[in-house]
Amino acid sequence: MAGNLLPAEEAKIHALSPTCQYGLNVFEVVRCYLNSANNELLAFRLKDHYERILQSAKVMRLRPKYTLPEMQNAFIKTIVANRYMEDITARIVFFVNEFGSWNSEYDCEMLIAPIPRGRAYDSDAGITCCVSSWERISDKSLPPRVKAGPNYINSRMAQLEAKNNGFDSALFLNREGKVSEAPGSCIFIVRRGELITPPVTASILESITRDTIIKIARHDLGLSVVERDVDRTELYICDEIFLCGTTMEIVPVLSVDKVTVGDGKEGPLTKAVKQKYFDVVRGKVDAHKEWVLYLDKN
Ligand code: PMP
Repeated sequence: MAGNLLPAEEAKIHALSPTCQYGLNVFEVVRCYLNSANNELLAFRLKDHYERILQSAKVMRLRPKYTLPEMQNAFIKTIVANRYMEDITARIVFFVNEFGSWNSEYDCEMLIAPIPRGRAYDSDAGITCCVSSWERISDKSLPPRVKAGPNYINSRMAQLEAKNNGFDSALFLNREGKVSEAPGSCIFIVRRGELITPPVTASILESITRDTIIKIARHDLGLSVVERDVDRTELYICDEIFLCGTTMEIVPVLSVDKVTVGDGKEGPLTKAVKQKYFDVVRGKVDAHKEWVLYLDKN
């Protein structure tokens, strides 16, 4: 927290700051996986998360105090100090720690917080979704490309509506009426053996997991992957759907608006992509070692 290692309850933010009042922050969630072969934690695509938070900060006119190497060192120091020997997520938050309002540019401080976290959902069982009545925020208002706390109020509206109506989660349409993403994850569908995902201009977060999946599907599994607009009705007639994200990882969607997807079970391409993904993030394969950073325990 602002350069110090502190117990969580001693980590304080200025009560009159714009972060406290307006939720002015940008953040990342990084997963660290336990590689059981050598009992070591490894961070997945840490550099990419730092690059994205710096881009978010740039758009939001927040000035980070630290360089990329300083941030990476702080991350490693914080994770190692906590001595977790299980899968965790780690929040990285840039926040404003001074009196202020919504209408100025600020220097920002950094918070890094590791939190034990297993699977978000049973990734084999799958989930049900509805198409949300809420529209996804857009680049014309609250840019979804920027990973900022306030964006998650839009996610919250959709998620709570879905839950109240008996679904596990929601799928957003964007301003153009095309499929965008889920409240905290991106979407892939499968049609005729091809993976299809909305483009980065479809009001989505430029997801690191989405990028990982595109690369492993193409290069490791030899699958065809297309980035293009997706219509709502394609959700009803496609063969498979899965959601993906750092916390979510890969989770099959078994129905949308109570319309069964495929045969209502996890599909073969979802399964293949998921298996490869878990091998890659746990450092079990030789390919993509550049995405994996072992955190020295000593
Ligand atoms: N979209 C939204 C709205 C998200 O919150 C997340 C989770 N960060 C994602 C997509 C997936 O992004 P990533 O793969 O980088 O975690």
